[in-house]
Amino acid sequence: MTAAYEYETHEYDVVVVGAGGAGLRATLGMAEQGLRTACVTKVFPTRSHTVAAQGGIAASLANMGPDSWEWHMYDTVKGSDWLGDTDAMEYLAREAPKAVYELEHYGVPFSRTEEGKIYQRPFGGHTTEYGEGPPVQRTCAAADRTGHAILHTLYGQSVKNNAEFFIEYFAIDLIMSEDGQCQGVVCWKLDDGTMHVFNAKMVVLATGGYGRAYFSATSAHTCTGDGGGMVMRAGLPMQDLEFVQFHPTGIYGSGCLITEGARGEGGYLTNSEGERFMERYAPTYKDLAPRDYVSRSMTMEIREGRGVGAEGDHIFLNLNHLPADALAERLPGISESAKIFAGVDVTKEPIPVIPTVHYNMGGVPTNYWGEVLDPSEDDPNKVVPGLMAVGEAGCASVHGANRLGSNSLIDLVVFGRASAIRAGQVVDPNTPNPKLNQASVDKAFERFDGLRYAKGAIPTADLRLEMQKAMQADAAVFRTAETMKEGVEKMTVIADKMDDLKVTDTSLVWNSDLMETLELTNLMPSALGTIHGAEARKESRGAHAHEDFPERDDKNWRVHTISRVDGSKVDLSYRPVVLDPLTKEEDGGIELKKIAPKKRTF
Ligand SMILES: Cc1cc2nc3c(=O)[nH]c(=O)nc-3n(C[C@H](O)[C@H](O)[C@H](O)COP(=O)(O)OP(=O)(O)OC[C@H]3O[C@@H](n4cnc5c(N)ncnc54)[C@H](O)[C@@H]3O)c2cc1C
Repeated sequence: MTAAYEYETHEYDVVVVGAGGAGLRATLGMAEQGLRTACVTKVFPTRSHTVAAQGGIAASLANMGPDSWEWHMYDTVKGSDWLGDTDAMEYLAREAPKAVYELEHYGVPFSRTEEGKIYQRPFGGHTTEYGEGPPVQRTCAAADRTGHAILHTLYGQSVKNNAEFFIEYFAIDLIMSEDGQCQGVVCWKLDDGTMHVFNAKMVVLATGGYGRAYFSATSAHTCTGDGGGMVMRAGLPMQDLEFVQFHPTGIYGSGCLITEGARGEGGYLTNSEGERFMERYAPTYKDLAPRDYVSRSMTMEIREGRGVGAEGDHIFLNLNHLPADALAERLPGISESAKIFAGVDVTKEPIPVIPTVHYNMGGVPTNYWGEVLDPSEDDPNKVVPGLMAVGEAGCASVHGANRLGSNSLIDLVVFGRASAIRAGQVVDPNTPNPKLNQASVDKAFERFDGLRYAKGAIPTADLRLEMQKAMQADAAVFRTAETMKEGVEKMTVIADKMDDLKVTDTSLVWNSDLMETLELTNLMPSALGTIHGAEARKESRGAHAHEDFPERDDKNWRVHTISRVDGSKVDLSYRPVVLDPLTKEEDGGIELKKIAPKKRTF
């Protein structure tokens, strides 16, 4: 029997789910072209996790020294440990300067150089001369509140362009036609309990990452992988979930982030002997080696007994040698965070830090237009009609096995913009909307109803904690065959308990118990895909450091992991990495031999 929920139907050309940097840039681009655009978001737009982005946004503007899109592309390819898709990485590096100037013209208040140009700081893994030259200052910053500046500007511009916002609406599930076209999304309005069906010619998922599958993460509590959950329930796959980025400098205890910009401005790490140990691991780039590398080096120091603190389980980040006025001007936000979350005055003492879960390189597979893919052996690049994914929710894939700092914010705006350009080509505002597949709408309400009246034995918060602890222990910075096998077994048992959930509150207005349960149904398949993908990958690449297979294996493993999750079962297959660039070498593209795989050293 169908669960009886009354609902209101809304018709749009495009519905964007999510109002972080990616969702807002997509929304703005769609609205600017006159497409009737709705943006649905579970939190107020300017509270999306993008607001917390500190350090900056990468683009080869060359404001502080020589730079080029080719060098940016090379660094991104190398940063990805040769798992990124070449066409998408070219698109990112080439379009980045344009996208940043657009942000400037929209009104983002960037910090400035003496001459009034956009200020750029060094960030890990960003170099010159195809990795042969010194670090480059490529990361455009608005002090250490860059995400805040971008998000507020994009929201204002979207409203100005008549995009319609549906705020505190929770997207539950996609509406799919019988033949696999996305037709819209079913939503629950959190503040009055009403139900809403959005019918659209194009749905764009911009729902962010799933950092909260782990116990300690820098991401907001709202980063629960809802887009991925919806995609997997629609029978579509995810890509490369095993690649989870640990940021070297989460504050010990709280997990709150200290931006890489702190090291960009001259900060450095020390162990219990007061040694600047990164000089040993990465003689050239030292503290500005990429994140996977620095996180592993810190973990090695701790393991070998050179951690700091009473339990020797963390590392110090030193900023106290920097001038106090520079800290106040360039890093005011993190100075405040260090005070609040570690009780530290950064002008006097080091900050206690530890590698903390920060970013999901994997996500919903897409091409460089943001169109969602449903790869099969016959067609690894098959497009799902009516569905796009951008930002951290998507996987284009530009970050491959490891993302460079400041390459996410640029990914949000470049691919948010690309999705709007593509929608302009494939969405015709003059045709009628698709006739909704009622069975798909009913199925979403039935699932919702089932969770609302879940009468099992385990409260959502308890099961979530079990999942988070298992992921923290077994899908960590270093992984062994044994810990990952144990992780798969533990996670299977945990995921099976989803059938025994208990929801106490059955009301429909501001029901956080039910909302968190819906979120757990999204976190769980992402967590499962992560641990299964990791267990299967018998090599080390980027953020996936397998102690039993310490080398990268391009012959067998330069492939994307495709995972399909159903209940506690995970089906894995593989998709080739895109090796062709967008522009051929003879037509002005990058010299391909420059980006050929080689050992990644710093
Ligand atoms: C502390 C921190 C600092 C960072 N600093 C930097 C940096 O300096 N430079 C850089 O490049 N990257 C940085 N990153 C990474 C980068 O900020 C994120 O990857 C990026 O902001 C993600 O943006 P997004 O638009 O994809 O998603 P988010 O900003 O996470 O937004 C997700 C949106 O989806 C909506 N949503 C989710 N689920 C639902 C649902 N079910 N129904 C309706 N709406 C939903 C939410 O309401 C929200 O609006 C940082 C990340 C963190 C955590």
